[in-house]
Amino acid sequence: MPRPLYPATLIAKHQLSQNTVQLNFSIEAGFDYQPGQFVQLHFSFQGQDYKRSYSIANSPESFRNSQQIEIAISFVKGGVASALFSEAEPRLELSIGGPFGVLTAPEQYDGRIILAGTGTGVAPYRAMIPALEKLAAKGTRILIMMGVRHRADMIYEQDFRNLAASFEAIEYRACYSREKSLTPSANEYPGYLQNQFPQLNLSPEKDLVYLCGNPAMIDDASGELKELGFGARQVKREKYVFSS
Ligand SMILES: Cc1cc2nc3c(=O)[nH]c(=O)nc-3n(C[C@H](O)[C@H](O)[C@H](O)COP(=O)(O)OP(=O)(O)OC[C@H]3O[C@@H](n4cnc5c(N)ncnc54)[C@H](O)[C@@H]3O)c2cc1C
Repeated sequence: MPRPLYPATLIAKHQLSQNTVQLNFSIEAGFDYQPGQFVQLHFSFQGQDYKRSYSIANSPESFRNSQQIEIAISFVKGGVASALFSEAEPRLELSIGGPFGVLTAPEQYDGRIILAGTGTGVAPYRAMIPALEKLAAKGTRILIMMGVRHRADMIYEQDFRNLAASFEAIEYRACYSREKSLTPSANEYPGYLQNQFPQLNLSPEKDLVYLCGNPAMIDDASGELKELGFGARQVKREKYVFSS
């Protein structure tokens, strides 16, 4: 059965990094989601109808307070949604379909959980923060790894650093593929985030790895994990593929 579409209004827009903005949409009552899920935005642009998928970047707890979902969008050259949302002003109206996706957090987990995301691929992990706090309080070890080219491309970093500072069971790593000077004491690492996997002492039977964002990263990381002995059940993926 097709999911209903919810009327939504753009309430606020703010810059997260050079190329990424956060859009806040208010949605009418009846919508709810699990942390880690995504929505489809349905909109018209220059007389044509389009839909594009975006991870929800705020937690369901925050949504229930504000009736707003937050979305982080990175603009691509020549992109339709990119053109619309780079110019969009508050009060823009569109429709939201969903929620969709199974990149959701378990309520409890005995092994270690690795949450790896590139660019806006960290958005679903931000939506999971209250769920991660509950897991960490029960003793689950969690590693959050963000991968971008440069430090200036990072989004939501302070949220993850604060989380890691508050729970001994939570670690945070920032991976930069093109940043020259790094601070190891601030958990900054050179190279792609998937290069970290062999050094993490992972258990392919017990640990659960989440991969979200750039499709090339997910393919590389999946190959790396397969070599380490991970089966498909221990790896959850959300590829940010382009719509055709
Ligand atoms: C499940 C899912 C969740 C997603 N979540 C997010 C999210 O939270 N944040 C987010 O920003 N995006 C997310 N995406 C990607 C998003 O749906 C759009 O594909 C993206 O915003 C580009 O849309 P557009 O209309 O601007 O470009 P389009 O009009 O679709 O593309 C125009 C051209 O730009 C090129 N292009 C498109 N995207 C990229 C890219 N990423 N890198 C390089 N070239 C590109 C392609 O060659 C394409 O032909 C997600 C995708 C999926 C499938």
